[in-house]
Amino acid sequence: MDGRALADNVMDEIAKKLMALKKRKNIVPGLAVVLIGDDPASQIYVRNKQKACQRVGIGSYVKKLDKDVTESYVLGLIKELNSDVHINGILVQLPLPSHINPECVINAISPEKDVDGFHPLNAGRLLRGESCLEPCTPKGIIRLVEQTGEGIAGKNVCVIGRSNIVGKPVSLMFLKRDATVTICHSKTDSLAKVASGADILVVACGKPNIIDDQFVKKGAIVIDVGINRTDIGLTGDVDFKKVSGKAGWITPVPGGVGPVTISMLLENTLLAAQIRDDYEL
Ligand code: NAP
Repeated sequence: MDGRALADNVMDEIAKKLMALKKRKNIVPGLAVVLIGDDPASQIYVRNKQKACQRVGIGSYVKKLDKDVTESYVLGLIKELNSDVHINGILVQLPLPSHINPECVINAISPEKDVDGFHPLNAGRLLRGESCLEPCTPKGIIRLVEQTGEGIAGKNVCVIGRSNIVGKPVSLMFLKRDATVTICHSKTDSLAKVASGADILVVACGKPNIIDDQFVKKGAIVIDVGINRTDIGLTGDVDFKKVSGKAGWITPVPGGVGPVTISMLLENTLLAAQIRDDYEL
């Protein structure tokens, strides 16, 4: 599966809608990204998000803060961004320096501007199956699976990983679409047996190449969420060489889930703007 091609299509659609919006109402939605410290990976992610905003015509406001900034300063900045009419989406790049509590920071973001979908209100709505700003990576995973045309209802889905940002929300999103979902984690017994029964296998555990063909059912859809920096470069959680001969569909790393995630962030920013200002596109 080509994540870059899917992301390009999504971004082209967003760009068209934004152009029409600017012409009709002179509205340019804005995304604020708060970057704290000098983590090299975070800097790359933020730069990529900035470029993507520029490409589609979303206003991009990057707030760079020193790694020693206090939590109360960060909370003050978020309060300002919450009430700034030019900003429709707020994203705080994780991980944060250890003296700042990520939960406090995420909880401070207005749920209407929570384009990462991490705020407890959005997470709760997702749990209840209500409409909400959905987290970007899970939303991108669903979009990739939908693109295969294989259908989700009635399928056996195995999700490896139970984090709040990937494993749990994507499991709920598959459940909402009538799949039968099994969530696995580091204590799961006989992981290969469980995973190899799945029609759709989502791997988000952050362990390079841990999943080989023993874990995969023939013809299955395999979504590799992992991003691992190793001596030989960027790699996923799935051993692509071994699994690609057995899977029906598989996402590469890089070029799979990553680019689609960014396009979902732009979609969420547009959605947040639409909901706030109540207009049709
Ligand atoms: P995380 O918070 O570290 O969670 C990892 C999960 O994997 C945990 O639930 C853990 O189980 C489970 N796990 C770890 N080792 C395992 C094993 N050997 N067998 C089965 N389960 C195992 O990670 P995350 O934030 O969800 O991210 C997962 C990966 O996706 C990372 O590589 C991350 O960089 C990547 N990621 C990519 C994107 C993207 O846009 N492409 C976005 C987000 C994350 P326990 O709960 O039992 O510890």
